[in-house]
Amino acid sequence: MRVAVIGAGIGGLTAACGLAADGHEVIVYERRDEPGATGAGLTLFGNAFGALDAIGLGDTVREVSSDAISRMRAGQRVPSGDWLVSMPSAMVPTLRSLHRAELHRALTDALPAESLQLGRSAAVASDGQPIVTVDGAEERFDLVVAADGLRSAARARLGVDRGLRYAGYTAWRGVTAAGIDVQDEAGETWGRGRVFGIVPLPDGRVYWFATESTAAGLHAEDEREALRERFGNWHTPIPACIDATPAETVLRHDIYDLARLPAAFAKGRRVLLGDAAHGMTPNLGQGAGQAIEDAATLTLLLRTGDPDTALARYDRLRRTRTTAIWRQSRQIGKIAQASRPVAAGLRDALLRATPPALMGRATQRIQRWTAP
Ligand SMILES: Cc1cc2nc3c(=O)[nH]c(=O)nc-3n(C[C@H](O)[C@H](O)[C@H](O)COP(=O)(O)OP(=O)(O)OC[C@H]3O[C@@H](n4cnc5c(N)ncnc54)[C@H](O)[C@@H]3O)c2cc1C
Repeated sequence: MRVAVIGAGIGGLTAACGLAADGHEVIVYERRDEPGATGAGLTLFGNAFGALDAIGLGDTVREVSSDAISRMRAGQRVPSGDWLVSMPSAMVPTLRSLHRAELHRALTDALPAESLQLGRSAAVASDGQPIVTVDGAEERFDLVVAADGLRSAARARLGVDRGLRYAGYTAWRGVTAAGIDVQDEAGETWGRGRVFGIVPLPDGRVYWFATESTAAGLHAEDEREALRERFGNWHTPIPACIDATPAETVLRHDIYDLARLPAAFAKGRRVLLGDAAHGMTPNLGQGAGQAIEDAATLTLLLRTGDPDTALARYDRLRRTRTTAIWRQSRQIGKIAQASRPVAAGLRDALLRATPPALMGRATQRIQRWTAP
């Protein structure tokens, strides 16, 4: 089949690699001049690697990632450093961390060179046809995969856009310039309306993220200074992570998810994939993992013969799986960002009382991917 993929993010690149390896002729249109390599670090759970393995990409991504985090003490702490709950490492044996730029590079390298067209913005036809318009010229394909991210224009052109919702908090992200000794401890620290997360990268540097419940659209002149004011007296190595990150590299984005998921992920020979289909809050660390699952599911289903049946199954399977995770992610975001003293105190007391194994079992269900 001739397949157009709109968007060279993690979802679009993974789908393109899987489909190209199966002999489909794939063209990826990416509006940026460079494939999206910003966004600091990332964690991927076993479900993502199960899906990557199913389409022959698992080792490619293992090579640029590390499982060191899965052997560290991880879970939730309070700003003083006391643990609320620590996850038994047996519950996340396949968790790996990596730099996003490395993932993009690995996936781009795995694509046939002629597949990727950078600096080209593409629009899918709104009349039901698998046609894309690029630079004013229309081109027909057998399938169009719209992987154009949370603010997907394709979702609206398919007539299934139900809008975005501001999650109520903003997020900063960064990567330290040099290695930081995290003393074999990772995970998140939950304060009142604020969260700080520590993720060691394969080369010893630390990817960190921080959130704060606040109005949308606010920015500080110096975001690193804003972080020092908010997290400077939190436990080690949080202040050191902030200090070791060049100020100009600190990213800040308000967190949005899809207000409601589309009523269909596939319309004719046009499918939505990744954040375009199910943009969710980052609280479960599953957005990219679900985009990868989408890509593998689509690739495997298209091996089974009739593409229209394959797309109908893709729609059903992926909407069921991602709706549950999108919803759960939103709920966890509300709990993690609790800012009133009573609500945050109750949250902490409940977490302290929760057996770690129970927490582990809840996340294990998400970490399992079943091939179609
Ligand atoms: C703070 C934060 C932390 C996160 N942490 C994790 C984590 O640890 N683990 C995890 O699994 N997920 C995580 N996520 C979620 C993850 O980043 C996303 O789910 C994932 O990157 C989505 O990939 P995508 O390919 O669907 O979309 P995107 O990465 O948004 O890619 C879309 C691409 O399409 C391109 N594009 C858009 N329109 C057009 C057009 N018209 N023509 C051509 N190209 C176009 C864009 O330029 C972009 O390159 C996190 C998200 C946030 C905000």
